[in-house]
Amino acid sequence: MREMFDPERREEDIQGIHIRPNSFDEYVGQKKIVENLKIFVEAAKKRGEPLDHCLIYGPPGLGKTTLANIIANELGVSIKSTSGPTIEKPGDLAAILTNLSEGDVLFIDEIHRLHTSVEEILYPAMEDFKLDIIIGQGPAARTIKIDLPKFTLIGATTRAGLLTSPLRDRFGMIFRLDFYDVDELKQIVLRGAKVLGVEIDDSAAMVIASRCRGTPRIAHRILRRVRDFAEVMNDGVVTKEIADFGLNRLEIDSAGLDINDRNFLLAIIEKYNGGPVGIETLSATLSEEKDTLEDVIEPYLIYKGFIKKTPRGRVVTPLAYEHLNIPFKGYQMT
Ligand code: ADP
Repeated sequence: MREMFDPERREEDIQGIHIRPNSFDEYVGQKKIVENLKIFVEAAKKRGEPLDHCLIYGPPGLGKTTLANIIANELGVSIKSTSGPTIEKPGDLAAILTNLSEGDVLFIDEIHRLHTSVEEILYPAMEDFKLDIIIGQGPAARTIKIDLPKFTLIGATTRAGLLTSPLRDRFGMIFRLDFYDVDELKQIVLRGAKVLGVEIDDSAAMVIASRCRGTPRIAHRILRRVRDFAEVMNDGVVTKEIADFGLNRLEIDSAGLDINDRNFLLAIIEKYNGGPVGIETLSATLSEEKDTLEDVIEPYLIYKGFIKKTPRGRVVTPLAYEHLNIPFKGYQMT
């Protein structure tokens, strides 16, 4: 179950039929960001200059990679994609940078996970389009500068706070992606169904939209699973009943919470009287990595108003008790 709903799992996106939008107009929601980007892209094209470097942050599955690809498409340039942890040595990044063509977009996913030594190469590259390479060692070492093609770096991260400030400061634009509202998700589901050739009712699309954690990647994934139920049980037609049935089978509740979300809330309620409890303690209690809790689980629970972060740790709100049908007896003061 954990695997199925992990918004970070991507192979479906890569293997599946291409349901990624390719233009600003196909990209649903995030209106303000898209409107601004349209202007910045047009202005850069008019001046014949590369677009300023952009940082896109937000929880997994909200469309960071998609947006980076659209920006490159709309600029009419190529995009080279890599990710922070895969660039091991400064030389790896130097090879990538020297292979770019003028105006290209370089997309670095999980940019907060770049090694410090690699990050340092990026500073002059971003600022002056120069590569500083040190050759030799000890007193004979010297630096040579190589000119790079002018490029646009698009960095993606789950949390902007994880970036070092020298790196963050070098981005000309910083965009935060938010969870999508139900109407936007409904459009995403209907669009996905069209591309996949799935027959779906409006009301069924609405059910999926309201139970997909505000996340397009999960909306698509649920659509695929519900399609399976429809194929076996209803000649392939996804109705509201089939969608409800499928979602219940997948243990996704009316607020879109999956088993991991509920376990997180229940752990705080049952073991720590609703909190406050620190993230390290929760990570040990649930045997789950702290980063996963902070990047994947918590943002949606905060967005729904089910937990609050306080200086003393996380607390479960009365709203979450109500949702879980557990009587709220007030927080224990210690
Ligand atoms: P991230 O990089 O933030 O983890 P992705 O860009 O890989 O997320 O998006 C996950 C999936 O969701 C993609 O397959 C894409 O088709 C879909 N998607 C994301 N954002 C949108 C959007 N705004 N409109 C339509 N589909 C979207």
